[in-house]
Amino acid sequence: MDKIDILSLDLSELETALAEIGEKRFRAKQIFQWLHVKRVFDFDKMTDISIQLRQRLNEIFCINGLFVQKRLESSMDNTVKYLYRLPDGNFVETVLMEYSYGYSICVSTQVGCKMGCRFCASAIAGYVRDLAPSEILMQIYQTEQDAGIRVSGVVLMGIGEPLDNYDNVMKFLELISHKSGNDMSLRHLSLSTCGIVPKIYDLAEKKLQLTLCISLHSADNDRRSEIMPVNRTYNISELLKACRYYIERTGRRITFEYAVIDGVNSSDSDADRLADLLRGINCHVNLIPVNKVKERNYSTARSGVADFAKRLGKRGINATVRRTLGSDIEAACGQLRRDAEKS
Ligand code: SAH
Repeated sequence: MDKIDILSLDLSELETALAEIGEKRFRAKQIFQWLHVKRVFDFDKMTDISIQLRQRLNEIFCINGLFVQKRLESSMDNTVKYLYRLPDGNFVETVLMEYSYGYSICVSTQVGCKMGCRFCASAIAGYVRDLAPSEILMQIYQTEQDAGIRVSGVVLMGIGEPLDNYDNVMKFLELISHKSGNDMSLRHLSLSTCGIVPKIYDLAEKKLQLTLCISLHSADNDRRSEIMPVNRTYNISELLKACRYYIERTGRRITFEYAVIDGVNSSDSDADRLADLLRGINCHVNLIPVNKVKERNYSTARSGVADFAKRLGKRGINATVRRTLGSDIEAACGQLRRDAEKS
């Protein structure tokens, strides 16, 4: 029988699993805290648990650790990019960024991605599998251990489409914010989606405090379909309808992400169309100078992004330009993994 992935269990599931081997409920909480509070990933080091029970735990459960395959440190801004090897030999990327207020971490939710966005390096390497809740969580726990810091913010913006791995991502959110465990407020977490509309409705019903980010990248339906195939299934008007519903249901503002790409979506009329589309919606626009991907020819002139932001501002749309971090270490997601798979 396969061992149970203990870091993917919430407290009540752990209680049930322990009850099945005749253990008391309070043991579950003890073990849960060893894992999620003390961050001890070895049953033999859980010193207030009897040796017999530790043996049983080793027989029944596994603790899925990640291995640092590569660690790239930016000499420009302290950004650290990790290439983690998963227990089955696949790779994911995690990026640790330093801001004036603390550290933020960008984690992956899948090995690869099915969405096929034209400008994204993750799409080029292809989809392999979903990440388990524990594999999303351990990117954070192990990066914190490796760097000797605690992160104050988490963004689900690494490799993968979080809403295409919905159940495991929801479980991860429950685990990271669990009162008896890591106890992080979801106000410090952002989830980014390319726009899987039915899942946006599902997420709205959960009324979580997280920030929902929508990768919009074009306000023109045909153009968006060209660069983001998901738009052929859920078009802009369906997406915006779901966003309005989400805002109404949760009372939370949405962030729209827009990678400005010269010759694709960067003209004055693109800005005007975007402003028209978003008028009256409680939102914020985050403009991103497109990260260069070797296989693609996309680029952005920095001045173009600033002009775009100004034009949106004049039309009453609140927009900021994302700082570029770690540009010397290929921090654009998916590039390291793709290179590792190739070799
Ligand atoms: N699948 C999710 C989250 C992962 S990508 C999503 O689509 O939102 C995180 C963000 O980076 C998305 O907004 C994505 O569109 C953007 N992105 C991907 N490749 C990029 C590139 N080369 N330059 C700039 N932004 C990019």
